[in-house]
Amino acid sequence: MNGILYIISTPIGNLGDITLRAVATLKEVSCVFCEDTRVTKNLLNHFDIKTPTKSFHQHSDRSKYNEILEILQKGDSVALVSDAGTPGISDPGSELIAYIQKANKDINIVPVPGVSAVVTALSVSGFPVDKFVFMGFPPNKNKRKKYFTEVANNKYATAFYESNHRIEKAIKELVEVLPEDTEVFIARELTKKFESFYKGKIKDIKDIVVPNKGEFVVIIKK
Ligand code: SAM
Repeated sequence: MNGILYIISTPIGNLGDITLRAVATLKEVSCVFCEDTRVTKNLLNHFDIKTPTKSFHQHSDRSKYNEILEILQKGDSVALVSDAGTPGISDPGSELIAYIQKANKDINIVPVPGVSAVVTALSVSGFPVDKFVFMGFPPNKNKRKKYFTEVANNKYATAFYESNHRIEKAIKELVEVLPEDTEVFIARELTKKFESFYKGKIKDIKDIVVPNKGEFVVIIKK
């Protein structure tokens, strides 16, 4: 019988946000594939989980995919985690899942759900978010104008991720494309010590100094 591939969400800061099922599953699998073994080992140590870790990241080649497939076909279960949050959401995971689904339809791929930064931010935005668009990270260079124009033109509340290096730039670019009364919500360092939120009209937010340290989710009200 084949092993199971578990896709496990992990906390985005506060380790208390791991689920009981995630801990139990991480203990029971033969191996945990993770983006950065140091990050995941810290998490596993915290919960006294002794399962070995192996790396799997966005540059992993087909031999890594086949290694995982072989373990599963041998009958051992494995887990996939990312550094934080839910694998596949602006993180590696979906290509591996597509590969395993295609290679062997009898392998069960089981989600062990938990936190994702985008849903966490949407949940406290106070905006109508029954329908929303998630646009991942803005591209690095030339395609940004097109990306932010799309953000401005979306029909529903729109969320995206941004790094500390580019948050100021992203706010400036939003100012260029959004009507000045558009409401914006910025969640910084969710679930962590310096968790903070900025909410207001884009014309006012541009004057607020959003610290350029930490991790950010930006939401635009429609
Ligand atoms: N897979 C993750 C998830 O489910 O949320 C997202 C991984 S993506 C590589 C990392 C980005 O998610 C960060 O740059 C930031 O935009 C957002 N993010 C992750 N943790 C966050 C946090 N604690 N507070 C705010 N944003 C966060």
